Amino acid sequence: MSYIVEIDKEYVAGTYNRFPVEIVRGSGSVVYDTDGKRYIDMGSGIGVTALGLTNEGWQNAVAAQLGQLQHMSNLYYTAPCAELAQLLCERTGMKKVFFGNSGAEANECAIKVARKYAADKKGADYTTIITLENSFHGRTLTTLAATGQDHFHELFQPLTPGFVHTPANDIEALRRTVAEHKVAGILFECVQGEGGVIPLEPAFVQEMARLASEQDFLLMVDEVQTGNGRTGQLYAYMHYGITPDVVTTAKGLGGGLPIGAALLGEKAEKVLGFGDHGSTYGGNPVCCAGAYYVISHIDDTLLAEVREKSDYVFSALQGAEGIKSVTGKGLMIGIETVKPAAEVLKACMENGVLCLTAKAKLRLLPALNIPMPLLQEAVAVILDACKE
Ligand SMILES: *Cc1c(COP(=O)(O)O)cnc(C)c1O
Repeated sequence: MSYIVEIDKEYVAGTYNRFPVEIVRGSGSVVYDTDGKRYIDMGSGIGVTALGLTNEGWQNAVAAQLGQLQHMSNLYYTAPCAELAQLLCERTGMKKVFFGNSGAEANECAIKVARKYAADKKGADYTTIITLENSFHGRTLTTLAATGQDHFHELFQPLTPGFVHTPANDIEALRRTVAEHKVAGILFECVQGEGGVIPLEPAFVQEMARLASEQDFLLMVDEVQTGNGRTGQLYAYMHYGITPDVVTTAKGLGGGLPIGAALLGEKAEKVLGFGDHGSTYGGNPVCCAGAYYVISHIDDTLLAEVREKSDYVFSALQGAEGIKSVTGKGLMIGIETVKPAAEVLKACMENGVLCLTAKAKLRLLPALNIPMPLLQEAVAVILDACKE
């Protein structure tokens, strides 16, 4: 055992079951471990390093801001925060942005906005937030309550009350759930990520949007994993022809620096006033400068490339030996394998490809700009590892 593994095991809280690999450096979609072994990175830090590792333009943008001002309180104006908010609104049609530091924090903001919107408009008893079974919304006590997977809940009772879960893609059950509760909002992932990379059906998404508009509660899309180009559109809701009231995002937004955002549409933009919400690091200038670079480089050309690479991966994997199904959208891909996914992942790692899992599936979230030859090399290794 190396010294780093030893002290990590001794001093870092045991919340992560790490692989026995220490990564020391990376470039683009390639990383190296302590022995100098090369891996193709098909996980990109769980969809975080959207433009690859040590991206030069991103580094320059971050370094320039770092040399000017690394932090300032939200008591004052700073340019990167204002400019990033403007860019996000221009690219989505949303009206205002609240910045935090993570996906969970972005969802916490969305939930507060929905509760306050409902209290202001309908009364203080309209508190219920509907989420979907098999969803994932974060690790704080409130976003755990939102998460529709019981095994995350068991050890941490009592969770924040006021959440109900309804099955994905079941329109009748959705209508019943809405009818039975005093609803403040509905929160969902367009492609359930941690739940196994499962896209929602368009008719179901459109029915959630219709009910939210008819009953005047907030339609909130959790784009923490699906956002920022991951699915081949800037945000995944754009595939579904809906206009959300709140869009939350994080992961790929910062390109590797911690940032989360809740984008607020017309119905939600004025709900929060002075003192209703806050975050000390929220809108940090270095994180915002990095995110500005990321968002301004996810243009139509890159999005078209994401869709092309996605088509390539789907057609290479679908129907191949040892693969039962391939699901997802863009470069967010789930692979149902005949062998246990953990076994396939291990074989890939031995052969120089880092993958993720989601439930019983192998999951791929490569950088959006992964070069085609590297993607082909990784797919060949994955195909081989899946064979019985
Ligand atoms: C990762 C994830 C979160 C939580 O994000 P953190 O930054 O870890 O708090 C929330 N929602 C979805 C859909 C995610 O994939």
